[in-house]
Amino acid sequence: MKIKSKNEQDTYILASKIASLLNGGEIILLNGDLGAGKTTFVKGIAKALNINEVVTSPTFTLLKTYSSEKFTLVHVDAYRLDGSSFDELYDYLNNDNVIFIEWSSCLANTDFLQEYLSISITYKSKNQREFDINAKGKRYLSFLKEFDHNV
Ligand code: ADP
Ligand code: MG
Repeated sequence: MKIKSKNEQDTYILASKIASLLNGGEIILLNGDLGAGKTTFVKGIAKALNINEVVTSPTFTLLKTYSSEKFTLVHVDAYRLDGSSFDELYDYLNNDNVIFIEWSSCLANTDFLQEYLSISITYKSKNQREFDINAKGKRYLSFLKEFDHNV
């Protein structure tokens, strides 16, 4: 499913729509070139969840957590892993967390990625982006269906 964003605000709106459908336990993969808007999208998720902390890219720490009312937002940036496995991630695979993984394509261990929502962002021009959202697995197919009804 492809969705156009014409500015940062649009991306925040898209993120809030996704955020409203999260219950805990979801895994969302974010891919796209540097500057595509992966971190901006997660900032939008955090804002929608009323997280007041400033969300910054966890490039050096690899993982950051932010607690919200419903669940903990786990923000991963796998870029620096560059093909190494990231075993710490297994500790977060439960319904208390929703995990957003920037650069999931850089993860070596993908065994836990049986089902997920995958978002690829393409840079079109200075303020325009195209989001391509895909689901793998039953849970995420119905997630996407519900999202489709709400957009
Ligand atoms: P990434 O995490 O993919 O490297 P960032 O989110 O850090 O990308 O950076 C995206 C940059 O693009 C930000 O400076 C943001 O303000 C800008 N931007 C411009 N238009 C958009 C848009 N439509 N959606 C998201 N970000 C946008
Ligand atoms: Mg980023």
